[in-house]
Amino acid sequence: MVEKCTTCGNTGRFICLVCGGSGEKDCIECDDSGKINCIDCNGTGLKTEGEKCTMCDGTGKEQCLVCFGTGKVKCLKCTGSGIIRCLNCES
Ligand SMILES: [Zn+2]
Ligand SMILES: [Zn+2]
Ligand SMILES: [Zn+2]
Ligand SMILES: [Zn+2]
Repeated sequence: MVEKCTTCGNTGRFICLVCGGSGEKDCIECDDSGKINCIDCNGTGLKTEGEKCTMCDGTGKEQCLVCFGTGKVKCLKCTGSGIIRCLNCES
């Protein structure tokens, strides 16, 4: 007799609750924007001497290296698949 799995309903898998099945999460580092404040000029776009910051070309922003400017990072819980395999059912 096989008992019904209360976790997945015998489907063997369920949607990742961390990312809601999308497989990705908002990047915490850049707050979903894909850009971070330039470290060199502290987001002002200017050097202390009043010159344009060469690191960010005066924009004050740099591409977020954590999400590569996409604003999204892969969900670590489901490794980007959006689906979690049910451990209760695995034998
Ligand atoms: Zn299960
Ligand atoms: Zn996930
Ligand atoms: Zn800068
Ligand atoms: Zn980011």
